[in-house]
Amino acid sequence: MIRFHNSLSGRVEEFVPIEPGKVRMYNCGPTVYNYIHIGNARTFLVADVLRRVLELDGYEVRQIMNLTDVGHLLEDEAGVEGEDRLEKQSALEKRDAWQIARFYADAFFEDIGKLNMERASEYPRATEHVGLMIEMIRILLAGGYAYKVDGEVYFDLSRFPKYGQLSGNTLEKLEAGARVAVDPRKHSPHDFALWKHDPKHQMKWPSPWSEGFPGWHIECSAMSMHYLGDQLDIHTGGEDNIFPHHECEIAQSESVTGKTFARYWLHVRFLLVDNEKMSKSKGNFFTVRDVLSQGHSPKALRYALLSTHYRQPQNYTQEVLASAASSVKRLQDLVDRLVRHPRRLGDLSPAVEELAARTEKAFLAELSDDLGISTALAAVFELLRQANAMETSGALVATDVDRLLGAMRRFDRVLGVLDFETDAVPDKVLGLVQEREQARRSRDFARSDSLREQIRQLGFVVEDTKQGPRVLPA
Ligand code: AMP
Ligand code: ZN
Repeated sequence: MIRFHNSLSGRVEEFVPIEPGKVRMYNCGPTVYNYIHIGNARTFLVADVLRRVLELDGYEVRQIMNLTDVGHLLEDEAGVEGEDRLEKQSALEKRDAWQIARFYADAFFEDIGKLNMERASEYPRATEHVGLMIEMIRILLAGGYAYKVDGEVYFDLSRFPKYGQLSGNTLEKLEAGARVAVDPRKHSPHDFALWKHDPKHQMKWPSPWSEGFPGWHIECSAMSMHYLGDQLDIHTGGEDNIFPHHECEIAQSESVTGKTFARYWLHVRFLLVDNEKMSKSKGNFFTVRDVLSQGHSPKALRYALLSTHYRQPQNYTQEVLASAASSVKRLQDLVDRLVRHPRRLGDLSPAVEELAARTEKAFLAELSDDLGISTALAAVFELLRQANAMETSGALVATDVDRLLGAMRRFDRVLGVLDFETDAVPDKVLGLVQEREQARRSRDFARSDSLREQIRQLGFVVEDTKQGPRVLPA
């Protein structure tokens, strides 16, 4: 059983999917007007870890992450909307908004690849789904949930009394609170745009209302429902997505279907620099590229970003990165030692089996309990300590080594920071080493010599030590 914090109820809840064994998950993806910064990466990595934990627990996960390549407007401190982020970047870089979108989308895929994130099932781009958005806006208009003014379409918040259920920002509270700039064309200053009229926009489409572009919120409603159906199991994003973005998605989607849109909402707290939100618009950000070009390994960065619980803000410092690098090294060292350990024949030791099984169980149990990463890692490091001692004592036989490596592989299905191939002895060679050991035991020296030669041809040598055969690169 998996539990995590559902922002909709404000509680940690048991996860029960709509369809047993299957998960429909939507992650708000990047706005592709710049390289992703490590705060964005943190939010995407939590989604990656969640997906990996669900898969480790046996679920089949359909994961959709969108790319916002139009319609996400800049906002000032008071939340007043300004220019489209892509159009602004296009002016800065002196290339068109389509080139900006393509360029930073490609960079995004490169960056998440370096951070070893699993590929989502689809990465729909807003610009390629405008037809779906127009259709959804049409339905909202027909149902009286939206209204037209001067070629634009706005959602009518007075028609959705449940507004505020996720963020607490009900229309009543919003109206009582800080003033927002009054647009006399809108019924309420808090009504939000579904379609913007702008013939000067570079990315624009014809629609029944005007030539223009869709609002950011309708993009995620339309794409998530297109790829996952009317109801999603899990919807994720950073904490700044809660309001207004996700609140607006709920209003749009539920007005169209009359059903609960997403059953579980998971939000990731911010990555901070000097205790302030890291953000592109504030300029106080490090991109994934910045960090990697300083010579830090992508594995250390991945580990650093996933090792703080998602419901705690994480302050980014050099110390965090250095300590992550050292943790990854300790884990990798154990893997390397095990791979090179003499392959002595023998039965699996009950102590090894007990340690591996207990740790595997604890690892999944801790992660299943609201993604308890610290306790899950503590269990792994306890296994590491004991396995290192066993390896040093020379007590491990080949089956013990394989059992421990199996456990490490299992942990790495979630952590994604280990290498089982570098310097590693291929399974084929290990098989031959074992066969040779068997042949030696039954004093079939001709066969044992021929196996040694086969191993040599694969680029390895076998040394017979007191503890058993040791395999080394030739
Ligand atoms: P954006 O590219 O601005 O659309 O953001 C992409 C994702 O990153 C969204 O889910 C944001 O909520 C999230 N995000 C933005 N800034 C941060 C931050 N400092 N820490 C964690 N997540 C963030
Ligand atoms: Zn979104």
